[in-house]
Amino acid sequence: MYFAKESGKNNYQFFTIDLHRDMSNKMMLEREMHRAVEEQHFHLVYQPQINMAANKMIGVEALLRWNHPKIGFISPAEFIPLAEETGLIIPMGTWVLEAACAQNKAWQEAGLPPIRMSVNVSLRQFMQLNFVEQVEQILDQTGLAPEWLDIEITKSMTADVSHAQQVLSRLRGIGIHVSIDDFGTGYSSLSYLSKFPITKLKIDQSFVRDLAQDRQAIVKTIIDLARNLNLNVIAEGVESKEQARLLMELNCTEAQGYLYAKPLSPEEIEERLSI
Ligand code: C2E
Ligand code: CA
Ligand code: CA
Repeated sequence: MYFAKESGKNNYQFFTIDLHRDMSNKMMLEREMHRAVEEQHFHLVYQPQINMAANKMIGVEALLRWNHPKIGFISPAEFIPLAEETGLIIPMGTWVLEAACAQNKAWQEAGLPPIRMSVNVSLRQFMQLNFVEQVEQILDQTGLAPEWLDIEITKSMTADVSHAQQVLSRLRGIGIHVSIDDFGTGYSSLSYLSKFPITKLKIDQSFVRDLAQDRQAIVKTIIDLARNLNLNVIAEGVESKEQARLLMELNCTEAQGYLYAKPLSPEEIEERLSI
């Protein structure tokens, strides 16, 4: 019934073994996710963001990891959508924000050069009426200055224009940075960009992957657009020197990807910051 509803009203679905397996898998995952939130089986890893010209780490993106005691590693691509569906993303997302801000403050307290912490937020989190207050409270509690936090949103969060404008202006008012993740995917009207007070565009990995072939014109357009709007621009999923070279040629300043580093543990970040 749920599957039929999901795929539109006047619809029916045959109940197959596969579907049954999918559903019990989903229910199992949901149960386990509840437990993982309670027992804190989640942790964060941090992927460096690099200023290409200076070859210097200027920030990190916090990425959630779930290591299940029995099943092993479960990818966020699998559990985040389910957490979003069930609402569990709210406590999970709050935990991520807290842990990431506390970690960044700890690095600063240890005397390491300050870097910016990018945190992914989900649609449900963003739509919460007290989202901004929550972020403010976490900054207060951890003692992290707002300029060292960057919130990554996706285009779906700007569908409710007036809500997004309100939330984003308040975040910017506090001094927090805001990036648009996965930029360039799907259809987007460019006029929406100027409506929102954001600070950075993250070029989606799909464009970077095909850079050597035929996506150069699009990537160049995104970079020029960002410049004209006075936004920073970062390329995601940079894996080869050739991609980095092409991006620099197109005036892209920042990059993130396996060429520089995969997501790392706090200790590994510390090591890199101490050099
Ligand atoms: P995303 O925000 O677009 O994150 C980038 C993903 O690309 C990460 O996958 C990262 O490990 C991967 N990646 C980084 N460099 C490269 C590269 O050079 N090549 C390739 N092929 N991949 C690269 P990950 O960690 O599996 O996360 C997947 C998605 O899960 C994220 O996509 C994000 O949408 C979501 N996610 C992760 N952590 C959180 C979180 O704390 N909160 C929320 N709401 N979503 C999260
Ligand atoms: Ca992201
Ligand atoms: Ca992305």
